Amino acid sequence: MRLVLLGPPGAGKGTQAEKLARHYGVPHVATGDMLRDEVAKGTELGKRAAEYMHQGVLVPDELVREIVRNRLSQPECSRGFVLDGYPRNVKQARMLEEDLCRQGLTLNAVVFLSVPTEVLVSRSSGRVVCSACGANYNVVTRPPRESGKCDRCGGRLIHRQDDQEDTVRKRLEVYQQESLPVRDFYAARGLLRTVDGDQPVEEVFRSILEAVGGGDG
Ligand code: AMP
Repeated sequence: MRLVLLGPPGAGKGTQAEKLARHYGVPHVATGDMLRDEVAKGTELGKRAAEYMHQGVLVPDELVREIVRNRLSQPECSRGFVLDGYPRNVKQARMLEEDLCRQGLTLNAVVFLSVPTEVLVSRSSGRVVCSACGANYNVVTRPPRESGKCDRCGGRLIHRQDDQEDTVRKRLEVYQQESLPVRDFYAARGLLRTVDGDQPVEEVFRSILEAVGGGDG
């Protein structure tokens, strides 16, 4: 199964991508996580990416293409993947198409999670992530069992620097300009499935499975 999850920041892509990856037995490939990892490790790529990420704007396309291409060519992705956070603009969508085509592959479906803007701002502002394993929580809608501590690994939960309210609004603005056209790109190819992301996590998950199985084309 080769899936792409689209949606604005805070739509729940990470949560759903993780569940879908487990369901289909394929890796969850999240460009945001991979970039944060590079930043944390202090690599050259990480240093270049950090200045863009802190401002809430997109990292240059070629830089992201490189890390995605490397990851998708690993043996663990031979059975498929769930892509989360890529492609973010039409240029990246074309790059992905080209890179997959070179391997004789195409996407099975692209799921768009639709969520109203006010919900997105409050979700992102409440979001905390595990500094050790990257698991996502929300202090309002999806709190950890013990405050500040990851349910899964016990790691420390932190508020991402780019989840501050003004950066969230900036990321939403960037999203409107650059990422919305990606939806049209996939609609034109008959791959787009739109799912209401403003429902409880399990409901959204069920709707995605249904949409990927059947589809609104
Ligand atoms: P995310 O965790 O997906 O919200 O990504 C966090 C930040 O990483 C974004 O605000 C961008 O600066 C950067 N980023 C993640 N994925 C991409 C991408 N596909 N293209 C460009 N920048 C990206």
